Amino acid sequence: MFQKILIANRGEIALRIIRTCKEMGIKTVAIYSTADRESLHVRFADEAVCIGPAASSQSYLSIPKIMAAVEITNADAVHPGYGFLAENAEFAEICTEYGIKFIGPTPDQIRQMGDKITAKETMIKAGVPVVPGSGGLLQDLETGLKIAKEIGYPIILKATAGGGGRGMRIVRQEDEFESLWNIARQEAKAAFSNDGMYIEKYIEEPRHIEFQIVGDQFGKVVHLSERDCSIQRRHQKLVEESPSPFMTPELREKMGNAAIKAGEAINYEGVGTIEFLVDKYRNFYFMEMNTRIQVEHPVTEEVIDHDLIKEQIKVAAGIPISGKNYYPNLHAIEVRVNAEDVYADFRPSPGKITSLHTSKGHGVRVDTHVYAGYTVPPYYDSMIAKLICKAQTREECITKMERALDEFIVEGIKTTLPFHKQLMKNEDFRNGNFHTGFLNTFVMEKPKD
Ligand code: ADP
Repeated sequence: MFQKILIANRGEIALRIIRTCKEMGIKTVAIYSTADRESLHVRFADEAVCIGPAASSQSYLSIPKIMAAVEITNADAVHPGYGFLAENAEFAEICTEYGIKFIGPTPDQIRQMGDKITAKETMIKAGVPVVPGSGGLLQDLETGLKIAKEIGYPIILKATAGGGGRGMRIVRQEDEFESLWNIARQEAKAAFSNDGMYIEKYIEEPRHIEFQIVGDQFGKVVHLSERDCSIQRRHQKLVEESPSPFMTPELREKMGNAAIKAGEAINYEGVGTIEFLVDKYRNFYFMEMNTRIQVEHPVTEEVIDHDLIKEQIKVAAGIPISGKNYYPNLHAIEVRVNAEDVYADFRPSPGKITSLHTSKGHGVRVDTHVYAGYTVPPYYDSMIAKLICKAQTREECITKMERALDEFIVEGIKTTLPFHKQLMKNEDFRNGNFHTGFLNTFVMEKPKD
């Protein structure tokens, strides 16, 4: 087992990893930017190293600075968390060259799944259903127009290097193609320095259902059932739950097997997520694979009663997995509490938290790095907490979430809490009747005063 793990991340996920390391008797090293000096991950790690100024490019994304911190602290493994360098094959490679274990898949596995077009080709070979599409990069506008016509509108234009819902545009008819093509390419170029685009058939009113998988170093891959992440705003997840209200035992069997096949196709090592779109007839299509721990991993942890970070560390240390799939025994829902003003188009709302009370009680979990007096910096992701509730049934879980949301009080900054309160009351949400476009027609009621 590892002696000391350096956590190449910040915020709630850094804290989350420190907790598991402590329970496993592993020493921890936090890294932080000058903007995060007062952050809890710095306080709770055994050691902490300041690696640079606020800008991520000079701190959390700087491989030389992180490697220097590894060297001076004598860490023998690095946990990348999610975001930042978690899916950066070069970083994984450099760690390996230095004899440091990167807690995650191999650089090759990251590369095979990082490029969405290559990933789809691999899945087709493995016999996993994928969304029909261009099957490769589009050379120019004319080819794009021709292929879109063949596939049939509506289609979705996607950046091959895309992520976080960016570089994506839905095209409903031919005369919109050219202008949306230009917008999507510009956005992709700015965000990922890569404007390579491809086309997929746009699946109408789909569900986003993903499978958690774990693979070990001996070729064994299992699944830990699904998460439904259909409640999204502009393709970004806001609420996740397990099991999916749309799931049937037959569909779980089929999708679970496809997820395992996907993992086996690249000999996957570590925890990972296979994302699918599911149409209203319960046809499912592979969309992409995330080769890291995800923000929404706690809903799976709650319904199968397993620590996924521990699983990830054990696999990285060469311990074989048990070899059986896991099925949900309970229902869990996670809501993302972001520092955003839901009454002003979800505009970021950084600043000082003057007062804070987080929800407590049976079946309630809050993963957060913030506290009263903490200042949310404007430089990073706006998520300040995850509120997770679990109960015997979905109905009870929603009721518990309503009660937990009422107890969650943040003063000084605006958060997404008012949105979640209204969502929990929505009839369609309560009936499990929603798809990824659900929030396009969801109208927020204005606050009373
Ligand atoms: P990202 O990497 O940016 O998260 P994804 O490929 O995972 O991008 O897609 C994000 C979301 O975009 C999905 O959850 C879904 O809501 C929507 N989406 C993506 N592809 C399609 C498609 N072919 N048809 C319909 N919706 C899609």
